Amino acid sequence: MPIYEYNCEHCSYKFDKLVMSHNTDVKCPLCQGGVKKLMSTFSVGHDDNISGNLPPGVGPGMCTNC
Ligand SMILES: [Zn+2]
Repeated sequence: MPIYEYNCEHCSYKFDKLVMSHNTDVKCPLCQGGVKKLMSTFSVGHDDNISGNLPPGVGPGMCTNC
């Protein structure tokens, strides 16, 4: 079951809630105001740039213009 993170648009209270269905009417528990659903940020977006991190042309005999 997905847990979504919400941010109240009225008092900026941030909370997460277990949502059973798409039609769940989520309101701020503090002020009963309207909330905005935030994107779930698990482990997406951390791009380890290993493959594109080759060392520069280091090695013997690389000079062709001496
Ligand atoms: Zn609120």
